[in-house]
Amino acid sequence: MSMDRRKFLNLSSLGISSFTITGFIPKTVQDITGSSNVISNTVVNPVVVSTWDAGLAANLAAWKIIGIGGRALDAVENGVKVTEDEINCCVGLSGNPDRDGHVTLDASIMDHEFNCGSVAFLERIKHPISVARRVMEKTPHVMLVGEGAQQFALSEGFTLEPDTLSKDAKSSYENWLKKSEYKPVINIERKKATSQLDPSSMAPHKLINGDWNHDTIGMIALDSFGNLSGSCTTSGAGFKMRGRVGDSPVIGAGLYVDNEIGAVVATGQGEDVIRVAGASAVVEQMRQGKSPAEACKFVVERIRRIKKEKAKDIQVCFIALNKKGEAGAYALHKGFNYAVHNKEGNKLFESSSLD
Ligand code: ASP
Repeated sequence: MSMDRRKFLNLSSLGISSFTITGFIPKTVQDITGSSNVISNTVVNPVVVSTWDAGLAANLAAWKIIGIGGRALDAVENGVKVTEDEINCCVGLSGNPDRDGHVTLDASIMDHEFNCGSVAFLERIKHPISVARRVMEKTPHVMLVGEGAQQFALSEGFTLEPDTLSKDAKSSYENWLKKSEYKPVINIERKKATSQLDPSSMAPHKLINGDWNHDTIGMIALDSFGNLSGSCTTSGAGFKMRGRVGDSPVIGAGLYVDNEIGAVVATGQGEDVIRVAGASAVVEQMRQGKSPAEACKFVVERIRRIKKEKAKDIQVCFIALNKKGEAGAYALHKGFNYAVHNKEGNKLFESSSLD
């Protein structure tokens, strides 16, 4: 059974939880309620939400932390590190290179007190999300890029990895060089998952027809102290111009956390997320009283208005989590999915979209 015919992924064979497969989610804006969260002096039920199928495995790592009373910040860092370690088209050093054949990484992290850190155009470092956290915690700055970011990482004890491409990225790059066209494929992460993964496994993603192109793991979490944090990490758009930086390391675009309101992370065409300050715009809509999914939809509609006809060629997706632990998402086009882990288990949801 293909993944796109499911609302939930049944993980019971892995002994992780025991959800049954149900039908499609109706085409309405949906919010998934964190089970009876209460914000007060009492302990809140934690929840972690992340982008794409890859989010299921990332959520499990995050849950090992917030599920036992740990901090959301630690959860979102350690969660996305799982994806950075996978063989993956779009996250970490195995991802697709830029046009010159080098993998360049973008990542950001933000906590419940507006502390934030990011790295962009970072090369040869395995865990950009952890470098972003060090930028946040150990420097007076928010963002370090390129060589400076790499030097900082090395000074913090990170290892310089070889400047080589993974087997899949190499084949993808060689394929791309034949035409040298820059044409991001929408929902590429999902495409891999639907056509190649055994849906009951969490095996690392694999290349399909050399068409890996772009996507991101973004994660937002609420811990039992009632605090929100978020993280975002990507190798960005495959075959991008050298030096291109997407939305993921741009605080307010790819990621934003306001602990009074909610946390939001984006995936998709970074340029179009940046031009509307996407994640921040979604948070502002939640501040006006919208639910997470409604707030995501509002900003996706804004992007469609701005892009007009060109909107059909791009994908943009947001996931959002509010202070009550309610999660929601919205995408420009169908095909986006996201994973929610709360005390009831780890489930994959189909996002609503404008088409
Ligand atoms: N938003 C990322 C970027 O533009 C890539 C993606 O999520 O597809 O770099």
